[in-house]
Amino acid sequence: MTQVDVRWSAAVDSENGSFGILIDGGERPGHGEPFEIVDPFRGETVAEIAGADAQDLEDVMHAARAGAAEVAALPRWRRAEILRAAAGGLEERGDELAVDITRATGKALKETRREVVRSSATMQASAAAALEGADRWLPADGGFGGDGLIAYEIRVPVGIVGAITPFNAPLNLSAHKVGPAIAAGNAVVLKPSSRVPIPALKLGEILIASGLPPAAIAVLPGGPAIGEALVGHPAVGFVSFTGGRAGGDAVRRAAGDKRIALELGGNAAAIVHGDADIESAAQWLTWGAFGNAGQSCNSAQRILVQASIWDAFLSAYLPRVRALRAGDPLDPASDLGTLVTKAEAERVERLVQGAIAAGGSLLVGGERNGALYQPTVLSGVPPREPLACEEAFGPVVLVDTYETLDDAIARANDTEFGLTSAVFTRTMAVAAHASARIRAGVVNVNRSPNYRLDHLPYGGVKASGVGREGPRFAAEEMTERRLVLVDALA
Ligand code: NAP
Repeated sequence: MTQVDVRWSAAVDSENGSFGILIDGGERPGHGEPFEIVDPFRGETVAEIAGADAQDLEDVMHAARAGAAEVAALPRWRRAEILRAAAGGLEERGDELAVDITRATGKALKETRREVVRSSATMQASAAAALEGADRWLPADGGFGGDGLIAYEIRVPVGIVGAITPFNAPLNLSAHKVGPAIAAGNAVVLKPSSRVPIPALKLGEILIASGLPPAAIAVLPGGPAIGEALVGHPAVGFVSFTGGRAGGDAVRRAAGDKRIALELGGNAAAIVHGDADIESAAQWLTWGAFGNAGQSCNSAQRILVQASIWDAFLSAYLPRVRALRAGDPLDPASDLGTLVTKAEAERVERLVQGAIAAGGSLLVGGERNGALYQPTVLSGVPPREPLACEEAFGPVVLVDTYETLDDAIARANDTEFGLTSAVFTRTMAVAAHASARIRAGVVNVNRSPNYRLDHLPYGGVKASGVGREGPRFAAEEMTERRLVLVDALA
């Protein structure tokens, strides 16, 4: 296996906290607007980034065209070997990467350590996807005119994948795009979140140190304008975007006729049925609503509890929420860190105040200190309140009662989103009934909506996006299908 050279550094001058762009295996300051990375808990500047401009993008595309040809020429076993080595490289630099993410986003160290482990697993799953592929034999003689012919469909790399990632899981969500792109035989140009670009730069550096042809990956920190220019660039064969609805709409417009995958937001409901294991449901939904301070696309935002167990559920749930420790994200004992910025915490505070003014009752929390927002539970919030029907993306959950399962399902579906959901029940028939009727890309039974297995298909319906991630499934999407018909007797 290729040895990972951890001395190589994508940072332009990481000693002084100054970073640029990663292009053709080297690092240099970008020519775009410089910007700062600020630790939301301490208020300190952590790093300065010299981001990309349009000329940098052209330079990157020139290199990536050559990189695409090099990756396409690599046999599958070699792509898999590189991806496995990168999985090892991520593990070796796990502590450093976890601190990078925590300092830039305020995400608790407990969670960023877990994110690094998952990122490594995502690269391992990408290695498996590289070996597997999706080529298939087809029965030519199954229809008129096919007698005596051989038919098969091959998957051809698209060339260059344009990838854009958000702040909330900046390493793993970058791995979810870069890993499958390489597995499928493509080069990849990644524009990470401006709030936290350093983990993506380091992922690029680890891949190159693992043996990836240097021109096959570029990382371009920069704002939405560079993202839109990347999406619209004629050399990009497939666009993979993860982020919010406004960005997703802009990407749809900029992509024109290109094929795209959009992983957008959610407003997940969890149904706790009368026959559920209440302690287990309460435990899962504590993490399910407040993991990553609620800043997950699949965070539990609405908990619907059958009226017969309402009191018992609240007795199990509320003490668990009160026991969560929200504090210094670098303290390994903190369960929650801050929101990504103070402005985001203020936005959540306004949503909560609006919901209370509209008739909601505050059961726990509701306090803000700088960028830190305490885990908050409300009941009785009217369904058309923004906190109930939009994506909250903060440490807030709404609890409410229902009488019948079909009523709960209708309310779970009463949202424009359709990413993930959950049902807690001990009865298979209830689970089957609900999972057939809840309109979402994922239905978890007896696990919270944010429980995700990185190797399995993941994505949404309705306003939550199009396409599926999970390396095997994303890699398939990052190819073109080609049918080959062979007249072997000619
Ligand atoms: P965001 O503001 O939409 O940004 C996501 C990425 O898109 C960033 O790199 C951002 O660049 C870029 N971007 C923004 N506007 C753009 C435009 N017009 N054209 C091209 N790129 C553009 O989202 P975020 O606040 O970082 O992340 C939170 C959102 O992501 C939530 O809605 C969450 O639900 C969603 N999300 C979805 C999934 C999923 O798998 N479905 C997973 C995680 C997060 P800048 O950073 O430079 O603005």
